[in-house]
Amino acid sequence: MADPREPGSGDPSFPVTEEAIATRAAELRQAVEAGTDVDWAREYWILLEKHEWLAGRLAKIVAISDRYQASYRELVERLEDTNARFRQLRELGLPVCTGCRKAQTDGRYWARLEEFLQRNTDLVFAKPLCQDCLEQRYGTATSLPASTPRGDPPSVQLPAVEDEALRSARTALSIPSPRDLMAPFTQLANRYEKLLRRLNKVVRISDRVQADLREVNLLLEHTSRTDPLTSLANRRAMRELLAAEVSRARRHGSPLVVVSLDLDHFKAINDTYGHDAGDAVLVQVAAVMERNLRREDSCGRWGGEEFLMVLPECGLEASTKVAEKLRGRIEQATVILGGRTLRVTASIGVATFSVDDSVEDLLRRADDAMYAAKRGGRNRVVRL
Ligand code: GH3
Ligand code: MG
Ligand code: MG
Repeated sequence: MADPREPGSGDPSFPVTEEAIATRAAELRQAVEAGTDVDWAREYWILLEKHEWLAGRLAKIVAISDRYQASYRELVERLEDTNARFRQLRELGLPVCTGCRKAQTDGRYWARLEEFLQRNTDLVFAKPLCQDCLEQRYGTATSLPASTPRGDPPSVQLPAVEDEALRSARTALSIPSPRDLMAPFTQLANRYEKLLRRLNKVVRISDRVQADLREVNLLLEHTSRTDPLTSLANRRAMRELLAAEVSRARRHGSPLVVVSLDLDHFKAINDTYGHDAGDAVLVQVAAVMERNLRREDSCGRWGGEEFLMVLPECGLEASTKVAEKLRGRIEQATVILGGRTLRVTASIGVATFSVDDSVEDLLRRADDAMYAAKRGGRNRVVRL
């Protein structure tokens, strides 16, 4: 017979499951009742080996689960932080004239911007102190302190498995008489069963945390591509989508149209009725756009009061019709606020893709068409 204390001598057909343990226990009970000799030392050694393996695995899973929970918490914090900054940034949109590119601001705007930047230096500055400030603060300063490296999380220390039953079992193995092994064997079997239950529980928790983590990741991804006010795709998402559509149109020679839409005299709405009223109008216009596009079309908020639409497989005639219909629907739409009825119109530029166009060419033509609509008297569609 193989030496029961030899590592690896455990019966390989004895897998680590609650069912296998129960079956083995029943077999042993039957053997005892039938008066058959049982090689307790061997049984005992098998159990001890499995127990050790299980304890090690549990420790690893607990450590992994802890790490998942930590990244989960970190992601949730990042998400909340991103949302908070989004809200703040929205209020700080620099009112730059899209024609002459000059900023149109009063003194309060710059004060608010400065206050925001002071509170969020990490958003703006790559290094915390400039050389002058360093020298002023620390004398003839050396170089800037190296920033803390970001990236890989710190490696996880596996906790040591404290196991009283395991220790007493090891001691008992040195006792020569099989009879003396019965008590620690029972103790170990009980402990093993408990450990298995705990392992199953931890695995279930770990699975749940991983699912939550995946959900938070998806949410984060969604947030980074969505305009928080209108829930439309944001500029980043639209740019990616347009790049994909342009390469598809180029590859298959299929038609593609880009529509740029800018609300007319929108500043006057803010000035007359307030910023919240302006926001309500933007939400309404976004809803009108979504309702009036085909399933394969996409629309997003390009910035401020400007929207972008991408219409694949759509010719110039059809897209002009779509744009004209949209212009009419926006003109008819009303937002009722505090007993007052607000209306808005839009100037729309339509550009069709030709095979040599880059994304930038297409965007520029749609923009030029939209400005031509402004110059032509606003509330109209121009195609280029
Ligand atoms: P035009 O017909 O020439 O386009 O005139 P306009 O007033 O629409 O254009 P202008 O560029 O002068 O003003 C755009 C305004 O849109 C200024 C800015 O405060 C406002 N705006 C930009 N983003 C938002 C927003 O998220 N909410 C609100 N309420 N207003 C916004
Ligand atoms: Mg405008
Ligand atoms: Mg504009």
